[in-house]
Amino acid sequence: MPKYIFVTGGVISGIGKGVIAGSIGKILQSSGIKVSLMKMDPYLNVDAGTMNPLVHGEVFVCDDGAETDMDIGTYERFLDMNLSRANNITTGQVYLNVLQREREGKYLGKCVQIIPHITDEIKSLIRYAARKDSAEVMIVESGGTVGDIEALPFLEALRQMRFEEGKDNTLFVHVTLAPIIEEVGELKTKPTQHSVQELRRIGIQPDIIIVRSKKRLTEANREKISLFTNVPKENVLSSPDLKSPYLVPQVLEEQGVSKIIFEQLKMPVKNVDLTEWNNIVRDIVESKEEVHIAMVGKYAELADSYVSVNHALYHAGGSLKCKVKIFWIESEELEKGSEKLSELEKFDGVIVPGGFGSRGVEGKILAANYARIKGLPYLGLCFGLQLAIVSFARYVLGYEGAHSTEIDPNTPYPVIDLLPEQKNVDKLGGTMRLGGHNIILKEGTLAYKLYGRNVIRERHRHRYEVNPRYWAELQAAGMVFSGFSEDMKRVEIIELPDHPFYMASQFHPEFVSRPGKPDPIFKGFIEASMMRRRRSIEVSSRA
Ligand code: GLN
Repeated sequence: MPKYIFVTGGVISGIGKGVIAGSIGKILQSSGIKVSLMKMDPYLNVDAGTMNPLVHGEVFVCDDGAETDMDIGTYERFLDMNLSRANNITTGQVYLNVLQREREGKYLGKCVQIIPHITDEIKSLIRYAARKDSAEVMIVESGGTVGDIEALPFLEALRQMRFEEGKDNTLFVHVTLAPIIEEVGELKTKPTQHSVQELRRIGIQPDIIIVRSKKRLTEANREKISLFTNVPKENVLSSPDLKSPYLVPQVLEEQGVSKIIFEQLKMPVKNVDLTEWNNIVRDIVESKEEVHIAMVGKYAELADSYVSVNHALYHAGGSLKCKVKIFWIESEELEKGSEKLSELEKFDGVIVPGGFGSRGVEGKILAANYARIKGLPYLGLCFGLQLAIVSFARYVLGYEGAHSTEIDPNTPYPVIDLLPEQKNVDKLGGTMRLGGHNIILKEGTLAYKLYGRNVIRERHRHRYEVNPRYWAELQAAGMVFSGFSEDMKRVEIIELPDHPFYMASQFHPEFVSRPGKPDPIFKGFIEASMMRRRRSIEVSSRA
């Protein structure tokens, strides 16, 4: 029988509940317990695939093709495990299931209601995921903030689960924020008190409170929170701002979180060993050598849109004992003239990450071309591959107006075009080419050298691809196709041999990168960027 840890959030959203859930998972996993995690999102989208990454953050893709909330990526990175569709449920999905069943007549004669039908469906999805993952402990994060109307059915389902599974098998962790009033420097606990009151009003008494704040809670802060919330002082834990989210497990464990969990869940107390994890994290956070990477995109305002790319860069850097600093370049700026474009040269490498739509696209094409002619390490991810092909067609083959038909349906040179099976797709939810697919690497290429094997598996999320009509011309002009889909019908990796590092993938290697296990493409890119930086430091020290 699995045990459950429920993670709720108070005060405001976006305080890193996912990281706390992932960290608790890591701690339990490090003691040898089989853990899994899931997230419940209170929006009506059936999955995250149809949401705007600018507002909601990155869409994370699982191996099974699920388009999920970015917290699923956090869990996979912390736990080094593959999650799936079952690990991210939304209000939309819950209602869809219940309403489909209603139409099938499964509830004939009954009045279908939020309680019990919606809450029953939520509970059954939670129990299903725990069973599927054979979890000894299932950590369930409830998205949104306590007090939101839309999160109520989820919280009600959790309240019922505590009643049904018993206190020995369920534990509530409530994550809040303690703001600091700058002028006085005082940490305020009132929002935490209120959010716990709100939780108790709907019948949930938290067992552990974890307070996010700029600095650590004082003893007095903890006493006060304890007094107002019925949570013992030793169960009021502090999660101060840190250099990296990967440091959170250590900080929580230092405060005894595993002991509290083992005691309440009546589990034998086990030794938690975070040494290996902390060593990996140390290299990510503390390495002396540095590289500066330019990330060119239109979501540049919001780091959350590319959170997995950022992490993949940190993982690659860590494994090479190098700190990666990421600089956001708004692609539209690059369209303003060659002076702007040449600012790219001060970086050690350039990334054009995944994307959709036409705004800023010309800037990305220019960046891909600039990196090519200047010998600047270039990494293209999905859209970044497609636009590298467009720039190559325009500036090497001289195909004026070459484009992707996603952006210019009437281009004279449609070098990037819809995947054949996408031509008749008219419903846009969950219908891209998604998830893990095997890829065959061509021997003798850089990609083959980086991966060190023939067959790899990477995750996808796209509708367009390199148009087979142009393969011969592109290859004749020097573009190397180093990876193909298993049926050899689509290009998966491109590279330029006479360049320090020019590589792009149709897949998203960022989704499989983990601390201590970087994706080889990212590692190759960072290695090349380090080399460039070392060389330029050498040159400037000689001058
Ligand atoms: N818009 C492009 C496509 O659909 C690229 C998608 C992406 O970068 N994820 O193929």
